[in-house]
Amino acid sequence: MEHHDAAQPLSPRTRVVALGRPERVPGAPLNPPVTFTSTYIQDGPVNYARVDNPTWTPFEEAVGELEGGDALLYSSGMAAVQAALSLVPVGGVVVAPAAAYNGVVVTLTEAQRDGRLDVRWVDVTDDAATTAALPGADLLWLESPSNPLLEVADIAGLTAAAHEAGALVVVDNTFATPLLQRPLEDGADVVVHSATKYLSGHSDVILGLTVTPDTDAGRELHARLARHRTLGGAIAGPMEAWLALRGLRTLSLRLERACANAADLAERLATHPRVSRVRYPGWGAIVSVEVAGDGDDAAAAEALAAGTRIWSPSTSLGGVESQLERRRRQPGEPEAVPVGLVRLSVGVEDVDDLWADLKQALDRI
Ligand SMILES: *Cc1c(COP(=O)(O)O)cnc(C)c1O
Repeated sequence: MEHHDAAQPLSPRTRVVALGRPERVPGAPLNPPVTFTSTYIQDGPVNYARVDNPTWTPFEEAVGELEGGDALLYSSGMAAVQAALSLVPVGGVVVAPAAAYNGVVVTLTEAQRDGRLDVRWVDVTDDAATTAALPGADLLWLESPSNPLLEVADIAGLTAAAHEAGALVVVDNTFATPLLQRPLEDGADVVVHSATKYLSGHSDVILGLTVTPDTDAGRELHARLARHRTLGGAIAGPMEAWLALRGLRTLSLRLERACANAADLAERLATHPRVSRVRYPGWGAIVSVEVAGDGDDAAAAEALAAGTRIWSPSTSLGGVESQLERRRRQPGEPEAVPVGLVRLSVGVEDVDDLWADLKQALDRI
């Protein structure tokens, strides 16, 4: 990568394959090794493996470069979320979406109940209402497209408004991935990822990341987040980090197929009489549908999830395997999410097979 002409930046499709490789010297392996160790011989740059592990580094470098900043790897997306929220002082004010990933909503609700944070819940698709909530805020939390309502926020506009009010901006970029959206380029201070989802892509690891910009302010945030990770101890296992990097190699291929499948399915789903609403922002690979039952939408949605053969009825998303779930079965899911909403994480299988499976399940409701 070092020898590439900087005037001709490499496409992200190339970068997901090329980034995070060992140095190109004779005899070097093509892939980074996995380092299983708890400690290091003293007087080196790092003395204990809760602080750093060389297996984290290539994945952090790859995702950091894709997002345009410096990444830190954590044991889960929620560990990255907790690290980002640790940037808010006790008693601080957070402006947050009323409908977002339920782990974030529950964390903020309980922090408010316990008097640790003051949360102002907003509809982040409403620019005026979100901007009006910003004066005096310490942090604006955005998730776009949101899980599972697929609401899209104006990241650049709201970030500018938040900075004017003196608030930091965190963007959960899990649904978009850096191939479809780069919030740091829109001015965000921290990007959060559940690498469990698209970045690793095979439903076989739980991991998370924060990414901060390569600026003085960004480096200071990075240092605070790294300290939070070391002291909080929510660190990744080396094997998981290695699997995630392997998964990242095919991110652009997986996403291309999954996005094309999602666009196709969003259209077909809209034609089915059991589907009362399709939520799909026009891009990405998640489609949420509202299922119409005869007076019991929740039961109809459960029947859809239980009636498929290829689609896996399981929580989580972003894997090569198509998955679906009625979201309100999760305790803590915001009430803004309709009881009959089923979130479809569209995988890379043949789209006609995926549609036939959904159709037969919908037909049998
Ligand atoms: C899954 C998810 C998280 C939490 O990540 P984990 O890896 O499950 O801890 C956070 N945000 C979004 C948008 C998610 O989908």
